[in-house]
Amino acid sequence: MYYILTMAIFKNKDDLFKNISFLKGVGPKLSKYLKNKKIEKINDLLWHFPYSSTDRSNTATLDKLEVGKIQTIKVKVLKYNFPRIRNLPNKVICEDEFGKIDIIFFNSREGYIKAILPVNKWVLISGKINFYKSKYQITNPSYITSIDKIDYVKRNIPKYSLTEGLNEKSYRKIIEKVINNLPVLEEWLDEEVLYKFGFKSWNESLLKIHNFENADTVNNKYIRRLALDEILSNLIVLSKNRKKFKETKKESKLFDNSLAKIILKNLNFTLTKNQEEIIKEINEDLKSDRKMFRILQGDVGSGKTIVSFMTIANVLEIGCQSAMMAPTAILADQHYNLAKKIFHGTEIRIELLTGKTETKQRKKILEDLKDGEIDLLIGTHALFQKKINFKNLGYVVIDEQHKFGVKQRMSLAEKGGKNCDVLLMSATPIPRTMMLTIYGDMDVSRLIEKPKNRLPILTYSKPEKKIDDLIKIIKKNLSENNQVFWVCPLIKDSQIFDYTSVKMRLKWLKKIFPSETGILHGELKQYEKDLILEKFLKKKIRLLISTTVIEVGIDFPDANLIIIENANKFGLAQLHQLRGRVGRGSKQGKCILLFKDNLSKNSVQRIKVLKKSSDGFFIAEEDMKMRGFGDIIGYQQSGEKFFKIADPINHIDLFNYAESYIKKIENENLDRFDFLVKLHDKAEIIYSKNG
Ligand code: ADP
Ligand code: MG
Repeated sequence: MYYILTMAIFKNKDDLFKNISFLKGVGPKLSKYLKNKKIEKINDLLWHFPYSSTDRSNTATLDKLEVGKIQTIKVKVLKYNFPRIRNLPNKVICEDEFGKIDIIFFNSREGYIKAILPVNKWVLISGKINFYKSKYQITNPSYITSIDKIDYVKRNIPKYSLTEGLNEKSYRKIIEKVINNLPVLEEWLDEEVLYKFGFKSWNESLLKIHNFENADTVNNKYIRRLALDEILSNLIVLSKNRKKFKETKKESKLFDNSLAKIILKNLNFTLTKNQEEIIKEINEDLKSDRKMFRILQGDVGSGKTIVSFMTIANVLEIGCQSAMMAPTAILADQHYNLAKKIFHGTEIRIELLTGKTETKQRKKILEDLKDGEIDLLIGTHALFQKKINFKNLGYVVIDEQHKFGVKQRMSLAEKGGKNCDVLLMSATPIPRTMMLTIYGDMDVSRLIEKPKNRLPILTYSKPEKKIDDLIKIIKKNLSENNQVFWVCPLIKDSQIFDYTSVKMRLKWLKKIFPSETGILHGELKQYEKDLILEKFLKKKIRLLISTTVIEVGIDFPDANLIIIENANKFGLAQLHQLRGRVGRGSKQGKCILLFKDNLSKNSVQRIKVLKKSSDGFFIAEEDMKMRGFGDIIGYQQSGEKFFKIADPINHIDLFNYAESYIKKIENENLDRFDFLVKLHDKAEIIYSKNG
């Protein structure tokens, strides 16, 4: 094995966090290209692994070349052949004692070629050998170097996925500099852990990975070691945050449920046992002298909203203000209307603040809020702008938190100061195995029981060739005063994907249902989307053709049928969430999945799971088994990738191990992991307020 010897470039291990331009030879242009690959700091380079390698160790004299193979040859430049006709390649003829070869250049200037291949000079050339018109040739060789560089070229060279502006040679210069000069770090893993998994040191693992010495790219022990590092760094941060929350003292909220009892009377249903349990759980947090940071997870339609209002009532009862945040104006609007209804007949003043609130009204709201005249403010993220000041905010509820990543979660937790309790709500069920990894900083409540009057949605599958049958079904539904969603994967037709687009489907359906169709997709502006959804809500549109953008959480009481086209394109959890958009009233909801004729075994299995179960948690677990963690809906949407290296399917044993390990060491001094946490970019999400 050959490593280039360069002078030590890192004086200090913290140099790894310096900008990439700290490296010699990386100027603004290269920095820009690297940034496109999300490489900005030096340590970002470390996690960008090679996916394969090119063996350039094969050498031969010109009489023993093997066509189609990559070979490294030692030759002397004989003469040039630069044709005067455009589009013909430049040619350089080279030789050794045994034969001749043509080196062909497309798109290279003569001056450049003459400089790298001066006549009569011996050089090393590496590339794929071709045979054309009874001559050997190499086209655009990857390497042309002086003979003394033989060890640099004649070896197994890792292959990275690179973008425009970056080629193997320029990237090698950078990555080798870093990899061969890694600072020696003190081991943070216990001897026992290293032994148990057969792990090597951090340095050795990185070196082996970047030299691509092991073809098993996911499960070799070098990658597994770095995966465990990454999982641990995540768990350590969450655990630290959790401890800080637990240490944050607040004024206990001492209420006697009097207001909650009143709003309970305004409901036209009784709470489920599970809802009651969770309300009690939250109430205890509110009463305690520690700040609450809790997530309420519950399937679509499980009735989270009322849980939050029952607990909001308690906070209002003692004269604290509350805020409730929803991801869209239309959902905020629904929450507002519901709140008005259930707080009817009380003294509570409720206001709505969204991007649509008029300036004058907005100004008034801000003033009244500051004076403490508004008790409950409901709105979109407009709620959390700097200008907005509460008099004594005691409770923040954030609905559909899957729109926000971990970093945003932290900043939300800091809002309102230490006396403010925080409840997040999410309809994205997380598989049990991933719970601690994702929500390890929070207390978790799970709403599993569904309201009793809720009929499970009936799920059917149909081959696409029977699409005409659907017309009859839609007609029947519309005549019964129901509404219908029709979901397609694409916005417009694509040459790459064989899926249906909403635009195409609209054309077809509009001919049959001319006056009542509408279209909704992600390319519309937010206000356009809101307008369409409002029309649907008011039943001016009764058949809505849509991509998956239909918001989770909105109640369309008369939407009872959802048709999902190219259903195999979607993950199970996503299909489950989509079908959760119908049947939220008291009528039976139905979901029809359209498939291509020849379903794979896997697809058949997936449909079975959906038909059989209406339990979002179970479905999420099955989904993860079949498609991997990256597809868990929501985490994809927030644009935040949880892990760069660790893979919850292949590394599940490491996840399990890390979870039990963290519980064991949680109360020890964890300083030895500080550098690791920084390496994985987690340091900035450590909760800082009051800590
Ligand atoms: P999600 O958990 O998806 O936010 P919602 O809170 O919007 O669900 O509740 C869905 C529907 O179920 C609402 O119309 C709500 O009024 C109703 N609901 C909530 N709890 C109950 C219950 N215990 N019994 C009957 N209906 C309920
Ligand atoms: Mg909801």
